[in-house]
Amino acid sequence: MAESFNAQIVVIGAGIVGLNVAWELARRGYGKHTLVIAEYLPGDTSINYTSPWAGADFSAVSGSDKNALRWDRQSYPILLAMADDPQQPFVQRAPSYVYWDEMPSEKKIESMAAYLEDYRVLERSECPEGAVLGVFFTTVKINPPAHCRHLKSMLEQQGIRFVRKRLPDLASAFQQSKAKVVFNCIGGAAEKFSGVQDTKSYPTRGATLIAHAPKITACYSHRTREHATYIIPRPNSGGQVVLGGYQQAHIRTGDTFVEESDSIRARTGKLLPALMDEDVHIMAAVAGLRPSHEGGARVEREEIAPGKVVVHNYGAGGTGYQAGIAMARDAVALVADRELKDLEYTSVL
Ligand SMILES: Cc1cc2nc3c(=O)[nH]c(=O)nc-3n(C[C@H](O)[C@H](O)[C@H](O)COP(=O)(O)OP(=O)(O)OC[C@H]3O[C@@H](n4cnc5c(N)ncnc54)[C@H](O)[C@@H]3O)c2cc1C
Repeated sequence: MAESFNAQIVVIGAGIVGLNVAWELARRGYGKHTLVIAEYLPGDTSINYTSPWAGADFSAVSGSDKNALRWDRQSYPILLAMADDPQQPFVQRAPSYVYWDEMPSEKKIESMAAYLEDYRVLERSECPEGAVLGVFFTTVKINPPAHCRHLKSMLEQQGIRFVRKRLPDLASAFQQSKAKVVFNCIGGAAEKFSGVQDTKSYPTRGATLIAHAPKITACYSHRTREHATYIIPRPNSGGQVVLGGYQQAHIRTGDTFVEESDSIRARTGKLLPALMDEDVHIMAAVAGLRPSHEGGARVEREEIAPGKVVVHNYGAGGTGYQAGIAMARDAVALVADRELKDLEYTSVL
């Protein structure tokens, strides 16, 4: 028997992208009209649920296309404000050192220099061997599993409801509620999800180690020709640090491999020798699939039938935490002035 949820706005997906959309809807006063439907919810783990596997920090090695630069730039001050908010214990400011063996684009460097707090180009002597550029700035580091759980409970306090359900297709999101608008935030499932089946979507596998290293507080990243190596401490995690990693396009396995773990251990130890101290312990090896999309994330409005508006918001790749807030603002703005404006005057059962 079909369940009826009675919500005029449905968000499909409870990864960081869907949670950010729900947050933006609540911020605009639509919380009590919003239902999040997701197969996996904060607190779950699955290879089909990327958000818990992220580092995560605001990284300077994100894309340099126009949207990526804008989403990063718009999200950064909001992330800093969250880090300064005592109600957000799983987002914190941190010093960040980023090195490249190949020069990033001019556009990227100019963009970073224009807004990142405490930005400075590092001296050659401060960079690892092989690096042609190193920069320092203040980043935010995030504890992804805890942050997503925390966001969910804050959203529930604002009237947003969450339902665990695997939807068979896009149209079913309208059938199960009185939805006028559906936000499609299904991450990597966009590749196969009926009604979407986006051939530009593909996974980019990342493997990491979770270490216990409470003395490490700064973030580090070194992009060489072969590898993306990074170190991200997780706030309020009892000393967990994420050591990465890999960027493997079109690889779909959630399995982990000892050669990769050894490589991560060696690379991160070289980048930050303090990680080789005796009191640093490896707690787990994990892998996740970044929901990539050719040409960058898809934030787009589509009317799939008369009066049935979908806003797609997926394909954040390796930037769902750092760019997701601005992506959500764009997504909600695509409907806010039209379909949503009357909802405040309509009661929801
Ligand atoms: C190793 C690694 C490191 C990373 N580091 C960073 C970092 O430092 N900074 C950063 O910004 N990002 C980082 N990322 C990327 C970030 O994790 C992703 O961009 C982000 O998690 C994508 O979120 P999402 O909500 O789009 O997808 P997901 O988290 O996968 O969520 C998708 C949601 O859709 C639901 N769904 C799918 N299909 C259906 C269906 N049929 N019915 C109902 N629900 C459905 C799922 O259940 C889930 O709730 C990293 C990722 C990895 C793997």
